[in-house]
Formats: sequence, structure tokens, C-alpha cells
Amino acid sequence: MKLKNKPKNPTDLRSLLGSGLVDTLVKRWLILQYFIKSTASPFVRITPLLKLLSRLFMLVKVYRRYAYSYRNFRVGAILIEDLNLPNPRIFGGSNVKLNLYTQPQCAELRALAKARRQKCKKISIIITCGPPQHDDRSGNDTLTLHPCGYCRETLRHLIKEGLVGLDTLVVTLHPSRTFFEVQTVEQLLRLHGHIK
Ligand SMILES: [Zn+2]
Repeated sequence: MKLKNKPKNPTDLRSLLGSGLVDTLVKRWLILQYFIKSTASPFVRITPLLKLLSRLFMLVKVYRRYAYSYRNFRVGAILIEDLNLPNPRIFGGSNVKLNLYTQPQCAELRALAKARRQKCKKISIIITCGPPQHDDRSGNDTLTLHPCGYCRETLRHLIKEGLVGLDTLVVTLHPSRTFFEVQTVEQLLRLHGHIK
């Protein structure tokens, strides 16, 4: 399957990956979640999961390509709906920053807005890809680009709504596609000091 053109939204997981791969992803996702819960801090891994996730990463890169930034700071994001559903949908977004004086629109927030519009009830996985940069809000330097302070506050708010859970996985892919970080929303919020 070639992903040259921007996919129609929302697309779904089974048509993107094929049913066999979706079932594997669900199984691996459950294992991964269990594993993450048993560790104290976020971790960076290059695992066979990379192979499994490679199609999703391709899709994130497509959204990244559609980003618009006057300083070439391009970010793509996709959200995967509740993996317990028979055919989870995928919602994508690209960041937009026209010039120094306009409000930036983050890729994650644009994808979240799309998910809400389409009456998505729960998101299982968030995948983003963008160049790493110093986090002004928390002061952290991370190996991959984490959602910004504004996005993190939005995620925190959405936990109350139920759209995002503390156990929602956040996968942040390096633009080189050679490594990525996996953490839960809870770990992300703790790391950057949003929750104690
Ligand atoms: Zn953001």
C-alpha cells in the first residue's frame, strides 16, 4: 500500500494495516501497556514493534509532510481510537504556523479536534513525529519531540472528559525513523511536572 496522498479522514486501522496486523497490534499493545506500567520511567526502545508500527509511522510522516511552518518546524500526529473496538479509526493532523505573529496550531490538537468532531469516545494511542527541541515549559531536553506544554495541559483536561486515559500510549517518533519513545500519558505528564 502506497501512502503518497493524504488519506481520507477518518481512515480505519483495518484498511490501513490489514486484519491480521491489527490483531497482532492489539495483542502487542496489551503486552506493551503491561510492561510500561511496571517501569518507573519512560524508556526508549528499538524493538520488533518498530516493524509492526512501521505503517503507522509512514502515515505519521505523511501528515508531517502536510505541515506548514514558516521556520520548517514540521510535526505530524495520528490518534488511534479505542483498540477494543472492532475497527478503530485513525485521526490525523499536521501543525500550522504561518509566521511569527500567528498562533501556532499543533498537530496533536488538530487531530484531537477531528476525533471529537467524529464523536470518538476514547483514544488508545497517540503517535507524533517532529524534530526534538528544548521544552520551554518544563525545561526538559528529550530525545524525541514530546507534545508541548499547551498540548499536555489539553491532554490532562481530556482525561476528565474520558477521551484520553492515563494509560493512553504516547509514541514519539524521531524524524529519522530510527528510534522512538513510548510512554503513557501519565508518565508524560509526570515527566514534565503537570501531575505530582
Ligand atoms: Zn503542542
